[in-house]
Amino acid sequence: MTDKQPDGIVRAKTALDYITGRMEKARNRFGAPPEKVQLVAVSKTFSGEQVEPFLVAGRRVFGENRVQEAKDKWPELKARYPDVQLHLIGPLQTNKAREAVALFDVIQSVDRDKLAGVLASEMERAGRKLPCFVQVNIGGEEQKAGIPVDEAVDFVARCRTEHGLEIVGLMCIPPDGVPAAPYFAQLAELAAKAGVSEISMGMSGDFETAIAMGATYVRVGSALFGKR
Ligand SMILES: *Cc1c(COP(=O)(O)O)cnc(C)c1O
Repeated sequence: MTDKQPDGIVRAKTALDYITGRMEKARNRFGAPPEKVQLVAVSKTFSGEQVEPFLVAGRRVFGENRVQEAKDKWPELKARYPDVQLHLIGPLQTNKAREAVALFDVIQSVDRDKLAGVLASEMERAGRKLPCFVQVNIGGEEQKAGIPVDEAVDFVARCRTEHGLEIVGLMCIPPDGVPAAPYFAQLAELAAKAGVSEISMGMSGDFETAIAMGATYVRVGSALFGKR
């Protein structure tokens, strides 16, 4: 490394150190069970140019919530950083499943049988079996995606046995404006019942709480990249 790096890279390193430092403290403070908490850097709305300093700083796990936006941004970056692991964290329409399977490495938003079936056949077709999370509508909110809480365990089983998907974990976005901890605790409980080891929960405002409740993946956007 040169002793004088461009400002963008210095800023990216500082932001990453700050967030991973807080993650580590949260893990130690609460003595949460997960050995390791993975940071998914949520780069939605930020350009390839704004994302690249984070790649230079060594980050490799990123999240995007829209297939089209990811398609405009990531093929070029992935060509230069082939070990990137890109997570789809937003709702997926079945007619975009083929593109999603081609571009992403992990799908965190599996939430209905039709999608599970289409994803499975697209993965088969592409010869690319991606690890998936089932998204749970943990607050039972009408406007939010995700499988209802009381159907989650059966749905995970169906994804595995009927659709043949590799389900590694559960994901949720808790309701706004109320404490997230009870919802995080409930997702962790559901994950244990469903027999999955990964738990994706917590964003910029609440990732420490999520870690306390057993998150193994946190999805952090604005605290790393700035305001959207
Ligand atoms: C945008 C987004 C995030 C990151 O949110 P921040 O508050 O910017 O950290 C996490 N998860 C999902 C599903 C998102 O859409």
